[in-house]
Amino acid sequence: MEPKFKVKFYGTRGSIPISEPGFYEFGGNTTCISITNNINNRIAIIDAGTGIRKLGKEIEQDPSSDNEIYLAFTHFHWDHIQGFPFFKPAYNVEKTLNIITMGRDRPLKDIQSLFNFQMHEVFFPVKLDEMGAKMNFLMPKDEIELFGETVVTVRKHNHPGTAYSMRLYWREKVIVICTDIEHGKKIDQRIVSLARGADILIHDAQYNPEELETHRGWGHSSYEQAIEVAEQAGCKMLILTHHDPDHNDEFLFKMENKCRERFKDCLLAREGMEFTV
Ligand SMILES: [Zn+2]
Ligand SMILES: [Zn+2]
Repeated sequence: MEPKFKVKFYGTRGSIPISEPGFYEFGGNTTCISITNNINNRIAIIDAGTGIRKLGKEIEQDPSSDNEIYLAFTHFHWDHIQGFPFFKPAYNVEKTLNIITMGRDRPLKDIQSLFNFQMHEVFFPVKLDEMGAKMNFLMPKDEIELFGETVVTVRKHNHPGTAYSMRLYWREKVIVICTDIEHGKKIDQRIVSLARGADILIHDAQYNPEELETHRGWGHSSYEQAIEVAEQAGCKMLILTHHDPDHNDEFLFKMENKCRERFKDCLLAREGMEFTV
């Protein structure tokens, strides 16, 4: 059997979830991506935006799902953690949750206390240690094996409060996830090198070029910058995500068409969309 990664989007929205007619094509839940492979039934999850609620229900309903779950974070802004209290496997005593943040030079020293804080009773009725699943909190500096032989490396990039891009490598297949990144005047060449030759590059494209000019310092990219990264790094496919909550389907369809004129294998992420590479 040819080894394949499967990538599925459970949340594609940036900043805040949205539920309104005119937004359903691209989806309203915030960032959550699942990565599985066709060799074992293990699952890695990137970020716990509100999209993780649906994924958690699916995991709980699947009798073949592995009891060991890997949940890695690009960073901890609200739109990337807000679904965590509603992630059903975290309440299952059979499950082990490996909660991971990677990379050097991070301002955050202890992720367990961060999750304790998120689950403090002033914010939520169930405390972290009352949830049920066994939880390990891991902070590797350079790389980690997520499941099977999948090796993940990260690179710090510019975003308020610090965020990290991830490169997942498994048997010649490469997926790069680069969200909540602000390149500045020039494209960050460290991210280009991380994305080099990726089968899929998933990149922040919250803004169009005009919006980027009025949102310097907000921590995000324009679709043009995302395309530039994909071109410079020679990526085979580009998927744009972290859609602005003010961009409705009509806006995003137009944006997608513009992107595809310049980079043929480019799509805007839709909730529920999946790819195998
Ligand atoms: Zn975000
Ligand atoms: Zn952010």
